[in-house]
Amino acid sequence: MEVTKLYDFIYSLTTSYQSSLDRKSLIDKFYRAFSVFFPIQDLKIYLMDEYSYLLKDFTKPWENLPASERNCTIREFFDNFLVKKSEFEVDKNTIFFPISQENKTLGIVEIKSREKIQQKDDFIKILPLIKAQISMLICAKKTDEQITITSKFHQTLRNIAQITQTQYELDYILPIIGEMIDRFILEHLIYIFIKNKNKKEYKLIWPSKCSDSEIYQYLEEINQKSKTTIKKDGKMGIFPLIVDSKPYGAIVAYNHFDKITAKELEYLDEIKTQVISTLSKAKSYIEVLQHATLDALTGYNNRHQFEKRLKETTSAAKRQNQPLCCIMSDIDFFKRVNDTYGHAVGDCVLKNVAKTIKKELRESDIPSRYGGEEFIFLLPHTNIEEALIVAQRLREKVEKKKINIEEYKIEGVREIQVTISIGVSEFTKADKNPQNLYKKADSALYEAKESGRNRVVVYKD
Ligand code: GH3
Ligand code: MG
Ligand code: MG
Repeated sequence: MEVTKLYDFIYSLTTSYQSSLDRKSLIDKFYRAFSVFFPIQDLKIYLMDEYSYLLKDFTKPWENLPASERNCTIREFFDNFLVKKSEFEVDKNTIFFPISQENKTLGIVEIKSREKIQQKDDFIKILPLIKAQISMLICAKKTDEQITITSKFHQTLRNIAQITQTQYELDYILPIIGEMIDRFILEHLIYIFIKNKNKKEYKLIWPSKCSDSEIYQYLEEINQKSKTTIKKDGKMGIFPLIVDSKPYGAIVAYNHFDKITAKELEYLDEIKTQVISTLSKAKSYIEVLQHATLDALTGYNNRHQFEKRLKETTSAAKRQNQPLCCIMSDIDFFKRVNDTYGHAVGDCVLKNVAKTIKKELRESDIPSRYGGEEFIFLLPHTNIEEALIVAQRLREKVEKKKINIEEYKIEGVREIQVTISIGVSEFTKADKNPQNLYKKADSALYEAKESGRNRVVVYKD
């Protein structure tokens, strides 16, 4: 055995390890390293799944191995390592050896060569060393991944706790929470339901669709339960949200293929607790803020204040026989901003858009944050032609505004730009109630979105 060959091999393995390497690249490194020994054709690593006891491809752990004859051989060899503690197995051109840590067999390595593997090969002689090295690297990778997940988990908890700093309307908080959980728990579909006022039916809040009737059925079945419940087949978990001792809704995690693992259950249970405390905080905020008037993030009127001002301005318009218009704006593809740069940048964008628009308004105009990234403006003494001009100007100013996000230290991105869509409406004699004014603006806004975004649409009867 040439010492240099062995040295090269060990050296290339150990020095190439970085925690940022993904699983596939790690296997590619092994592949290259092994080519020092023989004309390698394929290299695969399977690890035993702690929960299902199935062997799973290290690079595709989400796939179950089909039960082909070949996989039976792998399983048989693995069992030999597990039970008989055999050192390795050779099957013509292929060699198998175990991945182990502290005497526990965790998986199996399969290396296919283009030539027959001989028992006297150099490779076999140093196999103990190779096994130790590969096992160490695979375990290090798993540990690194676990650390990343744990830190993401804590970040998710923090983010959920912090939502109420910028947002307290429950209609807007819940979808944001849904997105946050969804980004953390990749293996399962996440749904958020709330109970209807009559407390009987569940209404889907996030995401926008749920075509699994199984979920609704199961929610009905466990309706009265207040504890986390896992369906018998292990694939669905219901995490009831009990807010201030009242059943409020539920988070549902569902996977068509895999069971929810004990670890995921632990994570989701803690997330549930955090969500409950955030919801409870938001509810008490809303109560307090019934008396407050301004939105903390934008400085605009909050939704409750908006409703109040709406009543005042519509009755004044009627009384004085003066025109009154309403502009409703919504940031285009705002979810993408959050998804790409994170929530803090999203908040910064919201703040900047609000500020940009505010500069363009008259003193008498009334800006409010209707919720999320939707703003609403009441323009007293303004007719629809004038309101359209204002709306176009707002749209243009936002489109041109370069929002500086340097402080968020995102590589290669110093500023971002967004666009808004706008709906405009005018209060007329036909409007039976004040709410009609913004309902019309909302429907025009919907049209602006449908017809391509970054545009203004005026409501027409
Ligand atoms: P569209 O052009 O159709 O409006 O696309 P969109 O992505 O803007 O639409 P959607 O209404 O689906 O998404 C709005 C997003 O706004 C979802 C939510 O994450 C985000 N959002 C709502 N309120 C806040 C907030 O206070 N801060 C941050 N960062 N994001 C928020
Ligand atoms: Mg939007
Ligand atoms: Mg929106």
